[in-house]
Amino acid sequence: MRLSRYFLPVLKENPAEAQIVSHRLMLRAGMIRQQAAGIYSWLPLGLRVLRNIERIVHEEQQRAGHIPLLMPTLQPADLWRESGRYDAYGPEMLRIRDRQDRDMLYGPTNEEMITDIFRAHVTSYRQLPLTLYHIQWKFRDEMRPRFGVMRGREFLMKDGYNFDVDRDAALHAYNRHMVSYLRTYERMGLTAIPMRAASGPIGGDNTHEFLVLAETGESEVFYDDRVAGLKLGAREIDYDDRAQVAAVCEEFTTLYARTDETHDEGIFAAQVPADHRRVARGIEVGQIFYFATKYSEPMGAYVTNEAGERVPVHMGSHGIGVSRLAGAIIEASHDDRGIIWPEGVTPFPVGIVNLKQGDTATDAACEELYAALTARGLEPLYDDTGERAGAKFATMDLIGLPWRLTVGPRGVARGVVELTSRRSGESEELTVAAAVDRVAAVFAGV
Ligand code: ATP
Ligand code: MG
Repeated sequence: MRLSRYFLPVLKENPAEAQIVSHRLMLRAGMIRQQAAGIYSWLPLGLRVLRNIERIVHEEQQRAGHIPLLMPTLQPADLWRESGRYDAYGPEMLRIRDRQDRDMLYGPTNEEMITDIFRAHVTSYRQLPLTLYHIQWKFRDEMRPRFGVMRGREFLMKDGYNFDVDRDAALHAYNRHMVSYLRTYERMGLTAIPMRAASGPIGGDNTHEFLVLAETGESEVFYDDRVAGLKLGAREIDYDDRAQVAAVCEEFTTLYARTDETHDEGIFAAQVPADHRRVARGIEVGQIFYFATKYSEPMGAYVTNEAGERVPVHMGSHGIGVSRLAGAIIEASHDDRGIIWPEGVTPFPVGIVNLKQGDTATDAACEELYAALTARGLEPLYDDTGERAGAKFATMDLIGLPWRLTVGPRGVARGVVELTSRRSGESEELTVAAAVDRVAAVFAGV
């Protein structure tokens, strides 16, 4: 992409309405625009990040054997009357009436609808296990939408639902989600700690929230600091292997880690040595629930089991805050100059800064880089504008591409360009071919 033809409305001034750094940087980097309280347009740069987050979520869900589908945003109220939640859900639900006077709602979540799909098509344990998920916009009329996309009213969520014949199978599905989430967040450059949580309006006994530590987080968290050092890494997971998946969950949930809703000062003190106890704040980027037959019983989602009996199916629901993650990643990865994107989600892998636009040799070197990177599937953002070098660097630092290639007449005369890491600030001079190889190598594993 050539910056001269792109739409990147960066702001020079700090927007007054932004209270936290991710909101400020998303506005300044031209990623989002607020259209109403808690409702945002995703501008081109922001959309690229959002799509990358979605892609990682899709890949990891499908790796775990979960199947994508797409349910609508608008739902009939009658479905929610069956579960009893139409009346139970408070003013956070946006209720709508259509021209036929039918009660509709903008979905805040999809348990009822997925249960309806399930009961229409599945009758036997032989069709199980089954986990269906989608990535779809939700609406919750939050009392205090704030912090940009972190607490929106309209927001993008991955929500997945498992259907299993009994409790053991459903607990395996729960564990499978936990492991797939760990990998999902790690690919986004995040440490998200699974913490024991309280169940809230969805209900259920088994639930964990995934929290990214950040001072601006809305949740208070209590944990053993050794839990923050655990990594899933590149280890092979067989998602059908119940014992292996359970062992990973045990590894990540044995050390103390709880939100304020479930925190127990006595257990904390007894289990965690004083020098490992941490009280901090975190951003909830996901949550998994096992809620047994809470929806299947009232809504009549039954299957025949191996013994030939009709039993209500065991379910759980599992969410990832896709749009919130864009903000959470920035909270976890920035400096005073701007965003520092992890390679997994960056809107462009690399930026090219032309220090002397219009200089024949410099322009030619930039074009050569542009073509070579593009041919390797690494679309660069090329600043081909007539801005001063200082302004070009400031924009690149603000929008946070992890790698920058700087091309100037003096380097070109010596046959080199400069490759700079946004994170470390370190630079090295390389030939065009070597620079392209280096960038390709960095992204090969992403
Ligand atoms: P919160 O406690 O932050 O209000 P929640 O527990 O009500 O969230 P869930 O129903 O667990 O939310 O939804 C799954 C995920 O969706 C959450 O973990 C969070 O990352 C994201 N999410 C929830 N509400 C919002 C919101 N208003 N704006 C952006 N993301 C949200
Ligand atoms: Mg939650």
